[in-house]
Amino acid sequence: MELIIENLTKTYSNGVKALNNVNIKIGAGMFGLLGPNGAGKSTLMRTIATLQEGDSGSIVFDGVNIMEDKMTLRNSLGYLPQSFGVYPKMSAEDLLMHFAELKGISNKQERKEIVEAVLEQTNLTEARKKNVAGYSGGMKQRFGIAQLLLNNPRLIIVDEPTAGLDPAERSRFLNVLREIGTNHIVIFSTHIVEDVKELCTDMAIMNGGAILTHQTPREAVEQIKGKMWTKRIDRSALNEHKDSFEILSSKFNDDNSMNINVYSETQPDELFIQKEADLEDVYFVTLKNVN
Ligand code: ADP
Ligand code: MG
Repeated sequence: MELIIENLTKTYSNGVKALNNVNIKIGAGMFGLLGPNGAGKSTLMRTIATLQEGDSGSIVFDGVNIMEDKMTLRNSLGYLPQSFGVYPKMSAEDLLMHFAELKGISNKQERKEIVEAVLEQTNLTEARKKNVAGYSGGMKQRFGIAQLLLNNPRLIIVDEPTAGLDPAERSRFLNVLREIGTNHIVIFSTHIVEDVKELCTDMAIMNGGAILTHQTPREAVEQIKGKMWTKRIDRSALNEHKDSFEILSSKFNDDNSMNINVYSETQPDELFIQKEADLEDVYFVTLKNVN
């Protein structure tokens, strides 16, 4: 199972270059697409989902060029958009039965079994009789996963599903995705570094329409190991430090001090101490392109 994207570009009619020569290969497992707002994540995902077209380049899924054969891709695709419309006042179970019928599962017994299975997979069995319209944000996102699982997709695309979820809902949602990720290609976009850290076996960081890095989270952290430095300074000294160092991130301490974090091959000055590199550092280093 493999998705291969080559030289994909897209410029919107207003002149925004949302995809700038994207090249990437994605295999089975959980793939995290990490990037700030406006990076081009949704554009890339909608293009893979055949909902819009690139200007040039190719996307091949399991040997099939999806731009030439959209239907084959759509039959094996499950897509959860970044935002979707209002749900009718129907129970999750009834709504899934209805979607299953629309997806062509005509045998009622078969439909029931599939609906039961996807409710179970998304931890919604207990809430299956409740109106989806009244679901919490996290339950709605899990319902979104339940409905895309109905046709047993091999390629699953979920666009910023954790945005706006509270910590408990987010954790429940990530658990559901984790289960599904083991035997599918799941492409999951987020601007939250923690999501990728907790979930993904492979990842890319995207900005300005381009893929900046493509590595496993472990490899990415390995590469900046020993090159992250932190210095505790008085808050009032921030501006002078900004002039002398390229500060990647900073954290306030509970006294009047703060820690500034810098990427450097060598110790920036004698008051900097080495900091254990983590994925958040990778993200900032990559976005600032200082390595
Ligand atoms: P992300 O999902 O990473 O936030 P998007 O793919 O939504 O990024 O957007 C990438 C860039 O393209 C942004 O600058 C955005 O404003 C622009 N953009 C997105 N959709 C459209 C559109 N339909 N028309 C014009 N510009 C768009
Ligand atoms: Mg988006």
